[in-house]
Amino acid sequence: MAGIVVIGAGQAGSALVAKLRASGYDGALTLIGDEPVPPYQRPPLSKKYLLGEMGVERLILRADSFYADQAITLKLGQPVTRIDPAAKTVWLGNESIAYDQLALTTGADPRRLPAAAGGDLAGVYGVRKLADIDAMASEFQPGRRVLIVGGGYIGLEAAAVASKKGLEVTLIEAAPRILGRVAAPQTADAVRALHQSHGVTIREGLGLTRLTGDTRVTGADLADGSHLDVDFAIIGIGITPGGQALAEAAGLTLDNGIATDALGRTSDPAIWAAGDCASFVYRGARIRLESVQNAIDQAEAVAANMLGADTPYVPMPWFWSDQYDMKLQIAGLNTGYDRVVTRDSGPARSFWYYRGATLLAVDAMNDPRGYMVGKRLIEQGKSPAPEAVADPATDLKALLA
Ligand code: FAD
Repeated sequence: MAGIVVIGAGQAGSALVAKLRASGYDGALTLIGDEPVPPYQRPPLSKKYLLGEMGVERLILRADSFYADQAITLKLGQPVTRIDPAAKTVWLGNESIAYDQLALTTGADPRRLPAAAGGDLAGVYGVRKLADIDAMASEFQPGRRVLIVGGGYIGLEAAAVASKKGLEVTLIEAAPRILGRVAAPQTADAVRALHQSHGVTIREGLGLTRLTGDTRVTGADLADGSHLDVDFAIIGIGITPGGQALAEAAGLTLDNGIATDALGRTSDPAIWAAGDCASFVYRGARIRLESVQNAIDQAEAVAANMLGADTPYVPMPWFWSDQYDMKLQIAGLNTGYDRVVTRDSGPARSFWYYRGATLLAVDAMNDPRGYMVGKRLIEQGKSPAPEAVADPATDLKALLA
Protein backbone atom coordinates (compact mmCIF):
# COMPACT_ATOMS: atom_id res chain seq x y z
CA MET A 1 0.00 0.00 0.00
CA ALA A 2 1.33 3.45 -0.95
CA GLY A 3 -0.47 5.15 1.95
CA ILE A 4 -1.65 8.71 2.50
CA VAL A 5 0.15 11.86 1.37
CA VAL A 6 -0.79 15.34 2.62
CA ILE A 7 0.41 18.44 0.72
CA GLY A 8 0.72 21.57 2.87
CA ALA A 9 2.30 21.41 6.34
CA GLY A 10 0.27 24.12 8.10
CA GLN A 11 -2.60 24.25 10.55
CA ALA A 12 -4.89 21.89 8.60
CA GLY A 13 -2.18 19.49 7.37
CA SER A 14 -0.84 19.04 10.86
CA ALA A 15 -4.32 18.40 12.31
CA LEU A 16 -5.12 15.97 9.51
CA VAL A 17 -2.11 13.70 10.00
CA ALA A 18 -2.51 13.78 13.80
CA LYS A 19 -6.16 12.79 13.49
CA LEU A 20 -5.36 9.95 11.06
CA ARG A 21 -2.96 8.43 13.58
CA ALA A 22 -5.28 9.08 16.53
CA SER A 23 -8.01 7.27 14.61
CA GLY A 24 -5.85 4.17 14.22
CA TYR A 25 -4.56 4.61 10.68
CA ASP A 26 -1.21 2.78 10.67
CA GLY A 27 -0.21 2.89 7.00
CA ALA A 28 2.46 5.06 5.42
CA LEU A 29 1.85 8.76 6.07
CA THR A 30 3.75 11.69 4.56
CA LEU A 31 3.25 15.42 5.23
CA ILE A 32 4.94 17.74 2.73
CA GLY A 33 5.48 21.48 3.25
CA ASP A 34 7.24 24.13 1.20
CA GLU A 35 8.19 26.27 4.21
CA PRO A 36 11.39 25.29 6.02
CA VAL A 37 9.65 25.20 9.44
CA PRO A 38 7.45 22.51 10.99
CA PRO A 39 3.71 23.32 11.03
CA TYR A 40 3.03 26.45 13.07
CA GLN A 41 0.11 28.67 14.04
CA ARG A 42 -0.27 31.90 12.08
CA PRO A 43 -2.56 34.07 14.28
CA PRO A 44 0.27 35.37 16.53
CA LEU A 45 2.21 36.47 13.44
CA SER A 46 0.21 39.71 13.29
CA LYS A 47 -0.17 39.91 17.08
CA LYS A 48 2.25 38.84 19.82
CA TYR A 49 4.98 37.49 17.55
CA LEU A 50 5.15 40.75 15.57
CA LEU A 51 5.11 42.65 18.85
CA GLY A 52 8.08 40.59 20.02
CA GLU A 53 6.18 39.14 22.97
CA MET A 54 6.16 35.55 21.72
CA GLY A 55 9.05 33.42 20.54
CA VAL A 56 9.04 31.17 17.50
CA GLU A 57 9.05 28.07 19.69
CA ARG A 58 5.53 28.90 20.87
CA LEU A 59 4.28 29.11 17.29
CA ILE A 60 5.25 25.54 16.46
CA LEU A 61 2.20 23.31 16.76
CA ARG A 62 3.85 19.95 17.48
CA ALA A 63 7.41 19.06 18.45
CA ASP A 64 9.58 17.26 15.88
CA SER A 65 9.43 14.19 18.15
CA PHE A 66 5.66 13.97 17.55
CA TYR A 67 6.14 13.26 13.86
CA ALA A 68 8.94 10.77 14.57
CA ASP A 69 6.97 8.99 17.30
CA GLN A 70 3.87 8.81 15.09
CA ALA A 71 5.86 7.51 12.09
CA ILE A 72 4.85 10.53 10.01
CA THR A 73 7.39 11.40 7.34
CA LEU A 74 7.68 15.19 7.45
CA LYS A 75 9.26 16.71 4.36
CA LEU A 76 9.92 20.43 4.76
CA GLY A 77 11.16 23.13 2.42
CA GLN A 78 10.00 21.12 -0.57
CA PRO A 79 7.09 22.30 -2.73
CA VAL A 80 5.01 19.71 -4.50
CA THR A 81 5.28 20.72 -8.15
CA ARG A 82 2.89 18.27 -9.77
CA ILE A 83 0.18 15.74 -9.04
CA ASP A 84 -0.34 12.86 -11.44
CA PRO A 85 -3.80 11.60 -10.52
CA ALA A 86 -3.74 8.74 -13.04
CA ALA A 87 -0.52 7.32 -11.58
CA LYS A 88 -1.52 8.43 -8.04
CA THR A 89 1.82 10.11 -7.60
CA VAL A 90 2.97 13.50 -6.39
CA TRP A 91 6.19 15.09 -7.61
CA LEU A 92 8.62 17.26 -5.65
CA GLY A 93 10.93 18.31 -8.44
CA ASN A 94 12.52 15.06 -9.53
CA GLU A 95 11.37 13.01 -6.55
CA SER A 96 8.05 11.19 -6.67
CA ILE A 97 5.88 9.75 -3.91
CA ALA A 98 2.98 7.39 -4.57
CA TYR A 99 -0.32 7.63 -2.73
CA ASP A 100 -3.53 5.70 -2.29
CA GLN A 101 -5.25 8.80 -0.95
CA LEU A 102 -4.06 12.40 -1.14
CA ALA A 103 -5.13 15.51 0.80
CA LEU A 104 -4.50 19.11 -0.20
CA THR A 105 -4.11 21.51 2.73
CA THR A 106 -2.28 24.18 0.78
CA GLY A 107 -3.63 27.20 2.67
CA ALA A 108 -3.69 30.55 0.92
CA ASP A 109 -1.46 33.09 -0.78
CA PRO A 110 -1.65 36.77 0.12
CA ARG A 111 -2.73 39.08 -2.68
CA ARG A 112 0.27 41.12 -3.75
CA LEU A 113 0.50 44.53 -5.37
CA PRO A 114 1.52 44.29 -9.02
CA ALA A 115 5.08 45.35 -9.82
CA ALA A 116 3.67 48.30 -11.79
CA ALA A 117 2.14 49.56 -8.53
CA GLY A 118 5.43 49.21 -6.68
CA GLY A 119 4.71 45.76 -5.30
CA ASP A 120 8.28 44.54 -5.76
CA LEU A 121 10.03 47.53 -4.15
CA ALA A 122 12.17 46.79 -1.09
CA GLY A 123 10.37 47.67 2.13
CA VAL A 124 7.01 46.29 0.95
CA TYR A 125 5.75 43.33 2.97
CA GLY A 126 2.95 40.79 2.90
CA VAL A 127 1.67 39.13 6.08
CA ARG A 128 1.26 35.40 5.72
CA LYS A 129 4.37 33.46 6.62
CA LEU A 130 6.84 33.46 9.46
CA ALA A 131 9.48 34.57 6.94
CA ASP A 132 7.32 37.62 6.03
CA ILE A 133 7.24 38.75 9.66
CA ASP A 134 10.91 38.06 10.27
CA ALA A 135 11.72 40.11 7.17
CA MET A 136 9.79 43.18 8.40
CA ALA A 137 10.72 42.99 12.12
CA SER A 138 13.66 45.41 11.93
CA GLU A 139 11.42 48.06 10.29
CA PHE A 140 9.37 48.43 13.49
CA GLN A 141 11.39 51.26 15.08
CA PRO A 142 9.75 54.13 16.98
CA GLY A 143 9.08 57.20 14.87
CA ARG A 144 9.17 55.44 11.52
CA ARG A 145 6.24 55.90 9.14
CA VAL A 146 4.36 52.84 7.98
CA LEU A 147 1.58 52.69 5.42
CA ILE A 148 -0.79 49.78 5.84
CA VAL A 149 -2.86 48.99 2.76
CA GLY A 150 -6.07 47.18 3.63
CA GLY A 151 -8.46 47.52 6.56
CA GLY A 152 -9.25 43.87 7.24
CA TYR A 153 -8.30 42.07 10.44
CA ILE A 154 -4.69 41.49 9.43
CA GLY A 155 -4.02 45.10 8.41
CA LEU A 156 -5.71 46.36 11.57
CA GLU A 157 -3.74 44.00 13.80
CA ALA A 158 -0.50 45.11 12.15
CA ALA A 159 -1.57 48.74 12.70
CA ALA A 160 -2.15 48.06 16.40
CA VAL A 161 1.31 46.50 16.78
CA ALA A 162 3.00 49.33 14.88
CA SER A 163 1.20 51.93 16.97
CA LYS A 164 2.13 50.14 20.21
CA LYS A 165 5.73 50.19 19.07
CA GLY A 166 5.65 53.94 18.57
CA LEU A 167 5.46 54.11 14.79
CA GLU A 168 3.50 56.70 12.85
CA VAL A 169 0.73 54.63 11.27
CA THR A 170 -1.52 55.38 8.31
CA LEU A 171 -3.99 52.74 7.17
CA ILE A 172 -5.87 53.14 3.90
CA GLU A 173 -8.89 51.14 2.81
CA ALA A 174 -10.24 51.41 -0.73
CA ALA A 175 -13.75 50.28 0.25
CA PRO A 176 -16.07 52.76 1.97
CA ARG A 177 -15.12 51.42 5.38
CA ILE A 178 -12.79 49.07 7.24
CA LEU A 179 -13.93 45.46 7.86
CA GLY A 180 -16.49 45.90 5.07
CA ARG A 181 -16.31 42.26 3.98
CA VAL A 182 -16.52 40.70 7.42
CA ALA A 183 -18.28 42.87 9.98
CA ALA A 184 -21.18 45.28 10.50
CA PRO A 185 -20.71 49.06 10.54
CA GLN A 186 -21.20 48.98 14.32
CA THR A 187 -18.16 46.73 14.80
CA ALA A 188 -16.15 48.76 12.29
CA ASP A 189 -17.07 51.99 14.10
CA ALA A 190 -15.84 50.62 17.42
CA VAL A 191 -12.60 49.32 15.90
CA ARG A 192 -11.96 52.59 14.04
CA ALA A 193 -12.50 54.62 17.21
CA LEU A 194 -10.11 52.35 19.09
CA HIS A 195 -7.36 52.87 16.52
CA GLN A 196 -7.93 56.59 16.36
CA SER A 197 -7.64 56.79 20.14
CA HIS A 198 -4.16 55.28 19.71
CA GLY A 199 -3.18 57.87 17.11
CA VAL A 200 -3.56 55.71 14.00
CA THR A 201 -4.74 57.58 10.91
CA ILE A 202 -7.43 55.57 9.14
CA ARG A 203 -8.47 56.77 5.69
CA GLU A 204 -11.41 54.92 4.15
CA GLY A 205 -12.75 55.01 0.62
CA LEU A 206 -9.21 55.81 -0.49
CA GLY A 207 -7.32 53.55 -2.86
CA LEU A 208 -3.62 53.26 -3.52
CA THR A 209 -2.48 54.34 -6.97
CA ARG A 210 1.10 53.15 -6.54
CA LEU A 211 3.96 52.91 -4.13
CA THR A 212 6.87 55.08 -5.19
CA GLY A 213 10.62 54.86 -4.78
CA ASP A 214 13.71 53.90 -6.73
CA THR A 215 14.54 50.47 -5.44
CA ARG A 216 13.01 50.94 -2.01
CA VAL A 217 9.59 52.35 -1.16
CA THR A 218 9.72 55.98 -0.03
CA GLY A 219 6.16 57.07 -0.63
CA ALA A 220 2.68 56.34 -1.87
CA ASP A 221 0.53 58.04 -4.50
CA LEU A 222 -3.08 57.85 -3.33
CA ALA A 223 -6.23 57.76 -5.44
CA ASP A 224 -7.30 61.26 -4.35
CA GLY A 225 -4.14 62.66 -5.97
CA SER A 226 -2.29 63.14 -2.69
CA HIS A 227 1.15 61.76 -1.83
CA LEU A 228 2.33 60.28 1.45
CA ASP A 229 5.97 59.84 2.48
CA VAL A 230 6.52 56.44 4.08
CA ASP A 231 9.44 54.37 5.36
CA PHE A 232 7.84 51.01 4.63
CA ALA A 233 4.52 49.46 3.64
CA ILE A 234 2.49 46.44 4.68
CA ILE A 235 0.01 44.98 2.24
CA GLY A 236 -3.05 43.29 3.77
CA ILE A 237 -5.48 43.11 0.86
CA GLY A 238 -6.76 39.58 1.30
CA ILE A 239 -5.78 36.16 0.13
CA THR A 240 -6.40 33.78 -2.71
CA PRO A 241 -6.78 30.07 -2.05
CA GLY A 242 -3.48 28.19 -2.27
CA GLY A 243 -2.57 25.23 -4.48
CA GLN A 244 -4.90 26.34 -7.27
CA ALA A 245 -2.45 25.83 -10.12
CA LEU A 246 -1.45 22.45 -8.75
CA ALA A 247 -5.08 21.36 -8.40
CA GLU A 248 -6.08 22.73 -11.78
CA ALA A 249 -3.22 20.94 -13.54
CA ALA A 250 -4.39 17.74 -11.83
CA GLY A 251 -7.86 18.26 -13.32
CA LEU A 252 -9.61 19.01 -10.02
CA THR A 253 -12.69 21.20 -10.07
CA LEU A 254 -12.06 24.71 -8.80
CA ASP A 255 -14.87 26.91 -7.52
CA ASN A 256 -13.87 29.60 -5.03
CA GLY A 257 -10.92 27.36 -4.11
CA ILE A 258 -10.59 23.61 -4.48
CA ALA A 259 -14.18 22.41 -4.59
CA THR A 260 -15.07 19.65 -2.14
CA ASP A 261 -18.26 17.79 -1.33
CA ALA A 262 -19.78 17.61 2.14
CA LEU A 263 -17.22 14.95 3.13
CA GLY A 264 -14.24 17.01 1.96
CA ARG A 265 -13.63 14.99 -1.19
CA THR A 266 -12.60 16.81 -4.39
CA SER A 267 -13.78 15.92 -7.89
CA ASP A 268 -11.15 13.11 -7.84
CA PRO A 269 -12.37 10.40 -5.44
CA ALA A 270 -8.82 9.73 -4.15
CA ILE A 271 -8.09 13.40 -3.42
CA TRP A 272 -9.41 15.45 -0.48
CA ALA A 273 -8.95 19.07 0.61
CA ALA A 274 -9.31 21.07 3.83
CA GLY A 275 -8.53 24.47 5.32
CA ASP A 276 -8.18 27.86 3.62
CA CYS A 277 -7.76 26.27 0.16
CA ALA A 278 -11.01 24.27 0.19
CA SER A 279 -14.54 25.37 -0.63
CA PHE A 280 -17.70 23.61 0.44
CA VAL A 281 -21.43 24.23 0.46
CA TYR A 282 -22.83 25.86 3.60
CA ARG A 283 -26.39 27.19 3.87
CA GLY A 284 -26.80 26.86 0.11
CA ALA A 285 -23.67 28.80 -0.90
CA ARG A 286 -20.18 27.58 -1.78
CA ILE A 287 -17.86 29.21 0.74
CA ARG A 288 -14.35 29.06 2.09
CA LEU A 289 -13.57 29.83 5.70
CA GLU A 290 -10.25 31.40 6.60
CA SER A 291 -9.86 30.50 10.25
CA VAL A 292 -7.99 28.23 12.61
CA GLN A 293 -11.22 26.64 13.78
CA ASN A 294 -12.18 25.67 10.25
CA ALA A 295 -8.68 24.46 9.38
CA ILE A 296 -8.62 22.08 12.35
CA ASP A 297 -12.24 20.90 12.33
CA GLN A 298 -12.42 20.40 8.58
CA ALA A 299 -9.06 18.60 8.52
CA GLU A 300 -10.19 16.28 11.29
CA ALA A 301 -13.47 15.61 9.47
CA VAL A 302 -11.53 14.83 6.28
CA ALA A 303 -9.20 12.48 8.18
CA ALA A 304 -12.19 10.58 9.53
CA ASN A 305 -13.81 10.44 6.09
CA MET A 306 -10.59 9.22 4.46
CA LEU A 307 -10.90 6.29 6.86
CA GLY A 308 -14.53 5.73 5.88
CA ALA A 309 -16.53 7.64 8.51
CA ASP A 310 -18.81 9.09 5.83
CA THR A 311 -19.76 12.06 8.04
CA PRO A 312 -20.48 15.46 6.46
CA TYR A 313 -18.50 18.40 7.84
CA VAL A 314 -20.66 20.99 9.55
CA PRO A 315 -18.67 24.11 10.51
CA MET A 316 -19.25 25.84 13.84
CA PRO A 317 -17.50 29.07 12.86
CA TRP A 318 -15.61 31.15 15.37
CA PHE A 319 -12.79 33.64 15.02
CA TRP A 320 -10.90 36.17 17.09
CA SER A 321 -8.76 39.26 16.71
CA ASP A 322 -6.56 41.04 19.26
CA GLN A 323 -5.94 44.77 18.85
CA TYR A 324 -4.40 46.79 21.72
CA ASP A 325 -6.22 45.62 24.86
CA MET A 326 -9.34 44.73 22.88
CA LYS A 327 -10.16 41.08 22.34
CA LEU A 328 -12.73 40.65 19.61
CA GLN A 329 -14.37 37.23 19.52
CA ILE A 330 -16.72 36.25 16.73
CA ALA A 331 -19.16 33.35 16.70
CA GLY A 332 -21.20 32.26 13.69
CA LEU A 333 -21.27 33.62 10.14
CA ASN A 334 -23.07 36.91 9.56
CA THR A 335 -23.71 36.39 5.82
CA GLY A 336 -27.21 37.62 4.91
CA TYR A 337 -27.89 39.60 8.10
CA ASP A 338 -30.53 42.33 7.97
CA ARG A 339 -30.30 43.72 11.48
CA VAL A 340 -27.63 44.30 14.09
CA VAL A 341 -28.49 44.57 17.77
CA THR A 342 -26.03 46.29 20.10
CA ARG A 343 -25.57 45.14 23.68
CA ASP A 344 -23.60 47.65 25.68
CA SER A 345 -22.71 46.86 29.26
CA GLY A 346 -19.78 49.04 30.19
CA PRO A 347 -16.47 47.96 28.73
CA ALA A 348 -18.10 44.75 27.46
CA ARG A 349 -19.85 45.30 24.17
CA SER A 350 -21.35 42.94 21.63
CA PHE A 351 -23.09 43.14 18.28
CA TRP A 352 -25.69 40.49 17.46
CA TYR A 353 -26.50 39.79 13.80
CA TYR A 354 -30.02 38.67 12.90
CA ARG A 355 -31.76 37.68 9.70
CA GLY A 356 -35.43 38.18 10.51
CA ALA A 357 -35.82 36.58 13.92
CA THR A 358 -32.85 34.23 13.45
CA LEU A 359 -29.60 34.87 15.25
CA LEU A 360 -26.68 34.37 12.83
CA ALA A 361 -23.54 35.67 14.52
CA VAL A 362 -22.12 37.67 17.40
CA ASP A 363 -19.12 40.04 17.51
CA ALA A 364 -18.08 40.41 21.15
CA MET A 365 -15.56 43.02 22.30
CA ASN A 366 -13.94 42.37 25.65
CA ASP A 367 -17.11 40.43 26.35
CA PRO A 368 -16.29 36.75 26.88
CA ARG A 369 -19.73 36.08 28.33
CA GLY A 370 -21.53 37.59 25.33
CA TYR A 371 -19.32 35.53 23.05
CA MET A 372 -19.79 32.30 24.97
CA VAL A 373 -23.57 32.66 25.24
CA GLY A 374 -23.91 33.78 21.61
CA LYS A 375 -21.82 30.86 20.38
CA ARG A 376 -23.88 28.35 22.33
CA LEU A 377 -27.16 29.87 21.18
CA ILE A 378 -26.03 29.67 17.54
CA GLU A 379 -24.83 26.09 17.95
CA GLN A 380 -28.14 25.15 19.52
CA GLY A 381 -30.11 26.96 16.81
CA LYS A 382 -31.74 29.26 19.40
CA SER A 383 -32.57 32.91 18.69
CA PRO A 384 -33.36 35.12 21.68
CA ALA A 385 -35.58 38.16 21.18
CA PRO A 386 -33.41 41.09 20.03
CA GLU A 387 -34.97 43.32 22.71
CA ALA A 388 -33.84 40.93 25.43
CA VAL A 389 -30.30 40.87 24.03
CA ALA A 390 -30.14 44.65 23.81
CA ASP A 391 -31.26 45.14 27.42
CA PRO A 392 -28.14 45.24 29.63
CA ALA A 393 -30.32 44.09 32.54
CA THR A 394 -30.91 40.73 30.83
CA ASP A 395 -28.89 37.90 32.33
CA LEU A 396 -27.36 36.47 29.17
CA LYS A 397 -26.95 33.00 30.60
CA ALA A 398 -30.68 32.83 31.23
CA LEU A 399 -31.17 33.03 27.45
CA LEU A 400 -29.64 29.58 27.15
CA ALA A 401 -32.31 27.96 29.30
P1 FAD B 1 -1.77 27.28 6.28
O1 FAD B 1 -1.67 27.27 7.76
O2 FAD B 1 -1.41 28.50 5.54
O3 FAD B 1 -0.87 26.08 5.74
C1 FAD B 1 -0.72 25.78 4.35
C2 FAD B 1 0.70 25.36 4.09
O4 FAD B 1 0.77 24.72 2.82
C3 FAD B 1 1.67 26.53 4.04
O5 FAD B 1 2.82 26.25 4.82
C4 FAD B 1 2.01 26.62 2.57
O6 FAD B 1 3.28 27.21 2.34
C5 FAD B 1 1.97 25.15 2.18
N1 FAD B 1 1.90 24.88 0.74
C6 FAD B 1 1.16 25.52 -0.18
N2 FAD B 1 1.38 24.98 -1.41
C7 FAD B 1 2.27 23.98 -1.25
C8 FAD B 1 2.89 23.05 -2.14
N3 FAD B 1 2.64 23.03 -3.45
N4 FAD B 1 3.78 22.16 -1.63
C9 FAD B 1 4.06 22.13 -0.31
N5 FAD B 1 3.49 22.99 0.58
C10 FAD B 1 2.61 23.89 0.11
N6 FAD B 1 -7.42 32.68 12.05
C11 FAD B 1 -8.13 32.74 13.19
O7 FAD B 1 -9.02 31.91 13.38
N7 FAD B 1 -7.91 33.71 14.13
C12 FAD B 1 -6.93 34.64 13.96
O8 FAD B 1 -6.75 35.51 14.81
C13 FAD B 1 -6.14 34.59 12.78
N8 FAD B 1 -5.12 35.45 12.59
C14 FAD B 1 -4.31 35.31 11.49
C15 FAD B 1 -3.21 36.15 11.34
C16 FAD B 1 -2.37 36.01 10.25
C17 FAD B 1 -1.17 36.91 10.11
C18 FAD B 1 -2.65 35.04 9.26
C19 FAD B 1 -1.74 34.90 8.05
C20 FAD B 1 -3.73 34.20 9.38
C21 FAD B 1 -4.57 34.33 10.51
N9 FAD B 1 -5.67 33.49 10.69
C22 FAD B 1 -6.42 33.57 11.82
C23 FAD B 1 -6.03 32.52 9.65
C24 FAD B 1 -5.47 31.14 9.94
O9 FAD B 1 -4.13 31.22 10.33
C25 FAD B 1 -5.64 30.27 8.70
O10 FAD B 1 -7.02 30.18 8.43
C26 FAD B 1 -5.04 28.89 8.89
O11 FAD B 1 -3.65 28.96 9.03
C27 FAD B 1 -5.40 28.01 7.70
O12 FAD B 1 -4.74 26.78 7.81
P2 FAD B 1 -4.31 25.97 6.51
O13 FAD B 1 -3.62 24.74 6.98
O14 FAD B 1 -5.44 25.88 5.59
O15 FAD B 1 -3.23 26.91 5.80
